[in-house]
Amino acid sequence: MEWKTELAELVKTDGNAPTSRLRFDEPMDKHVFFGIGGLAAAYFEVSTVHELAAIAKLKKSWNLPVATIGRGSNLLVSDNGYRGIVLRLVKEFDQLEFDGECVSVGGGVSLPRLSKVSARQGLSGIEFALGIPGSVGGALIMNAGAWGSSFGDVVERVRVMTDKGEVIEISHDKARFAYRRSGLRNYFSVTGAVLRLTPGDAKIITDRMNELYNKKISTQPFAEENAGCIFKNPPNDSAGRLIDACGLKGHRIGGAEVSKIHGNFILNIDNATAEDVLSLVQHIQACVKRTTGVALQIEVKMLGFEDE
Ligand SMILES: Cc1cc2nc3c(=O)[nH]c(=O)nc-3n(C[C@H](O)[C@H](O)[C@H](O)COP(=O)(O)OP(=O)(O)OC[C@H]3O[C@@H](n4cnc5c(N)ncnc54)[C@H](O)[C@@H]3O)c2cc1C
Repeated sequence: MEWKTELAELVKTDGNAPTSRLRFDEPMDKHVFFGIGGLAAAYFEVSTVHELAAIAKLKKSWNLPVATIGRGSNLLVSDNGYRGIVLRLVKEFDQLEFDGECVSVGGGVSLPRLSKVSARQGLSGIEFALGIPGSVGGALIMNAGAWGSSFGDVVERVRVMTDKGEVIEISHDKARFAYRRSGLRNYFSVTGAVLRLTPGDAKIITDRMNELYNKKISTQPFAEENAGCIFKNPPNDSAGRLIDACGLKGHRIGGAEVSKIHGNFILNIDNATAEDVLSLVQHIQACVKRTTGVALQIEVKMLGFEDE
């Protein structure tokens, strides 16, 4: 049996016909904010821990590449696509449950939803995330953050699935959160977390959340397709400032353009390819290095490139 047949069977045996949740040769451009990317050999919206464990086993037995993605808001997919299975966590992974100051949240929950619901509950700590269009899983992997706060700051425990298909909980310290990264990439998938928030006044928290959101949308591009900040900020500096200082705002290669609003964003303004984006990335890195001596590191994650 081929792995695709086994995958389709696996969905069927769970009582669901392999319809819309499982697709073969799926265009990835419609699953990522950049609107760029070739075909994934398979795309599967995973509903249960049981299904996810079965995919972990499938990966092992067929030696297949498998990647869990979130909302695709920090992802550049190759023009050649991805030769394995792309997973997105839905249903069982898209739930949150409050218990006093703690919230248990699934990896598929969107950050804006988490931010808004927490504020309504009178819980502070996650206000910064209303303007970050990712999922909890993506935020844990990336240690997403803004305005001096990072997701890892509020994490007490993380739930991950191992290569053997077992869900285990790991402590905050073991998750090794650092600036825009964590040690969670080594697990098969990140399925959720328990966050500890700080009680406060719901109105004050909501006002603060809205204030940060409005500040963000007035200084960063939200209308065009992009993947957030393309480079990490170097220590004690800002990548956007360096790119601006090199006169690169508005610079264009193919359909990709450096935002005129914020230099650290690359926009897909006219059917850009991943090649266009990477050429622009290299051009920016070379100019910034030549002019300022700083080597900018890419923040956006890559999928389907040979040297991943
Ligand atoms: C307009 C805009 C503004 C943004 N602003 C910010 C900002 O202020 N601060 C900030 O930090 N980021 C920002 N981002 C980037 C992005 O939203 C964050 O990095 C976010 O955390 C990514 O989440 P995601 O679910 O979209 O992850 P994806 O982009 O889907 O994936 C990112 C990486 O995480 C992996 N991954 C995702 N989910 C899982 C999972 N469950 N298990 C295992 N691996 C997983 C993927 O394989 C990939 O390697 C912005 C993006 C946009 C488009």
